[in-house]
Amino acid sequence: MNDLPIDKDEILKELDLIKEKDLKYSGGRILGSMCTEAHPFGKEVYIKFLDSNLGDPGLFKGTKSIEDKTIKIIGKLLNLDNAYGNIVTGGTEANIMAIRAARNHARKYKNIENGEIILPRSAHFSFKKAADMMNLKIVEAELDENYKINVESVKNKISPNTVAIVAIAGTTELGLIDPIEEISKIAHDNNIYFHVDAAFGGFSIPFLRNCGYDFPEFDFKLPGVSSITVDPHKMGLAPIPAGGIIFREKEYLNVMAVDSPYLTVKTQSTVVGTRIGASTVATYALLKYFGRSGYSKLAKNLMENTCFLKDSLEKIGYDVIVEPELNIVAFNHPEKNPQLMADELEKINGWKVSVANCPNAIRIVLMNHVTKTHLKEFLSDLKKLY
Ligand SMILES: *Cc1c(COP(=O)(O)O)cnc(C)c1O
Repeated sequence: MNDLPIDKDEILKELDLIKEKDLKYSGGRILGSMCTEAHPFGKEVYIKFLDSNLGDPGLFKGTKSIEDKTIKIIGKLLNLDNAYGNIVTGGTEANIMAIRAARNHARKYKNIENGEIILPRSAHFSFKKAADMMNLKIVEAELDENYKINVESVKNKISPNTVAIVAIAGTTELGLIDPIEEISKIAHDNNIYFHVDAAFGGFSIPFLRNCGYDFPEFDFKLPGVSSITVDPHKMGLAPIPAGGIIFREKEYLNVMAVDSPYLTVKTQSTVVGTRIGASTVATYALLKYFGRSGYSKLAKNLMENTCFLKDSLEKIGYDVIVEPELNIVAFNHPEKNPQLMADELEKINGWKVSVANCPNAIRIVLMNHVTKTHLKEFLSDLKKLY
């Protein structure tokens, strides 16, 4: 650490130089990220609320009321009239809260001490963190031939120690939606907590439905669904960090509550103590700014780009792994290894694609910063590599 203060300009100069090493979304080379550039209005609002701390809501009553409103709005979007929950740092923290709620609820009402959670192989790695922190055993449900959770397998894996079942609306690797209605029924019949991870899909499925896209039920309309994760910092265009966890019942927050003696409120249910209010307010502002029709237009545009990419890839001879349901396309060259292809793409034009594991394939996430023009350049490079 320097001993004497350094001039602001000098520090800023250093930071500008360092920032050049970061990629910019606007360059269009980031093709494998589920995040994107935040909307300018979201950034404007964010700065206004930088100091507000949702960890101490008695001091920031205004910001806290906005968090509550935001949860109610997102809850309504997911067909729940009276939602509880929080805007947290992202899908990971939201999933950790859901699993903690399920574990604590099962401990309180069913006396389960050594709990198990049933997850599909396609689940996000955040559940590994959750299981590790909470000392739960992961029981992996198999996937069917379309890379979705196998309903029979879930049924067979239920045990007296099952504290939660997880299914996904918009898998991280392929953007697929699990058969949530069937799983909801199983969870409901067996009185087991059911968490839907819609971190990716939650901000687009309801809006795509609005534009006539057909999706199976995935939200609180299904009586078995206990909680849903939905990330405003993905398709919601909110500044990071903004993830959402929505619970059907207040009791799920209550079973996680610990005493918070020195604060203005007496208990706290979130994982994090001091926590950001700015991204919550930005999320609220963007929900109002776009409205249902604005977000529908955004979601539709992403799906149009997705179809364009898929059709064009097939025209030049690449194999598209599955019919996209949301804005992710996974594909392979008939002979080349996907990782080697990814390396080649980076070398020739700086393309940053991601490589999926299951199945092993190149994976493109069509986020807002990826325009048709970028896609055309990308396709022309893929043609050269074919
Ligand atoms: C992105 C994602 C997560 C993790 O979200 P973070 O915001 O990166 O913590 C969890 N689950 C799914 C399905 C996701 O797509």
